[in-house]
Amino acid sequence: MKRVAVLGATGSIGGSTLDVIARHPDEFCASVLTAYRNVDALVDLCRTHRPQLAIIADPALESELARKLAAAGVPSGTAAGPAAITAAASSDLADVVVAAIVGAAGLESTLAAARAGKRLLLANKEAIVMAGPLLLAAVKAGGGMLIPLDSEHNAIFQCLPQDWPLAQDSNAPDGPRAVRRLILTASGGPFRGWTREQLQAVTPDQACAHPNWRMGRKISVDSATLMNKGLELIEAHHLFGMPADAIDIVVHPQSLVHSLVEYADGSLLAQLGLPDMRTAIAGALAWPARMTSGVGSLDLAACGTLGFEAPDRQVFRCLDLATAALRAGGDSPAILNAANEIAVAAFLSGTLPFLGIADVVESVLAELPGQAVVDVATLHERDATARATARRIVQHAC
Ligand code: NAD
Ligand code: MG
Repeated sequence: MKRVAVLGATGSIGGSTLDVIARHPDEFCASVLTAYRNVDALVDLCRTHRPQLAIIADPALESELARKLAAAGVPSGTAAGPAAITAAASSDLADVVVAAIVGAAGLESTLAAARAGKRLLLANKEAIVMAGPLLLAAVKAGGGMLIPLDSEHNAIFQCLPQDWPLAQDSNAPDGPRAVRRLILTASGGPFRGWTREQLQAVTPDQACAHPNWRMGRKISVDSATLMNKGLELIEAHHLFGMPADAIDIVVHPQSLVHSLVEYADGSLLAQLGLPDMRTAIAGALAWPARMTSGVGSLDLAACGTLGFEAPDRQVFRCLDLATAALRAGGDSPAILNAANEIAVAAFLSGTLPFLGIADVVESVLAELPGQAVVDVATLHERDATARATARRIVQHAC
């Protein structure tokens, strides 16, 4: 029996993970579930999945959690606070850790799971964008394994040779010569084909209405700005040790081809399937075996044409900002990520227009040139500085 800690259990990835686990009760159990502030949702999940430990990130809510679990007759232990989540990620309670917290808030627990040698199923792309080399070094030192859940990276993971040195030092040479290029597919989001004029007054609900995927609101906005693809470019660079020049991005509105690997001989291997994260999650839990995920068959004749086009980098400027941050190196990707988290939160709360997201990120990157990444503590300081800078710029923009 493999015990799985689901960090961010009340979210979209968390829910899909628990759905897959529940289909395989003889092989997997959810041993730790965590949530940010939604006590009732966490209690509901505990009622169904009976974890050993339930953790709420906001310490003020622990007594409410304990009371409601007791009232529901659920014997799970309780804990609270970010440090408790980090401790659980490296504890004996879990063999597998699903990093599905959104944003930089997931960095410490992701690193802890890596250091402890867990099988780390990484959805929390912000962690690897912020701290790629540190995270990969932690995976190496811990002796565990990182399997990406992000659908594009999971697709590439499936299409690469099995002995590909995943999670290696990203400063290593350009990767084995057998691979020429990685191609990340992007849906284009809800505003594909729109002009800047049309984007001026779009609302958070419009931005979160993704055509193919049901996801949390932060990643949905990132998909609408194409920052998501920019973050994924950085993620792919770190995970697969490929330079930015060898990672292409193509818009594929149907979201059925999840990404591709081009080999030196001209072969392109792609992974296809319905847009449902349970495929990636089941594959990563069972790897190197396969198991059912609850995802149905893709009827190719019914879906008809598969379309591909270049992204519109003039309108969706976040893609080039992320590419520039990757090329600048050092902690520029962490600065980009922090600025984006603040800008997206401001957009979602109605204080920043949609097009302002790229402007804020650009201004923060211009104010804070990249510095070498020394350690996690310094990274947190830079993250905090970038957030403060972004908040100031947002305030002036309003
Ligand atoms: P979500 O908003 O649905 O869920 C986020 C989870 O994190 C929730 O359980 C929430 O309680 C928890 N959380 C939020 N802030 C927290 C904090 N400060 N401390 C502790 N816990 C906190 O998000 P999601 O769509 O499930 O995405 C999760 C991560 O996976 C993101 O990094 C996202 O980019 C990535 N991802 C998601 C998808 C998808 O299909 N949803 C696909 C690829 C990658
Ligand atoms: Mg993705």
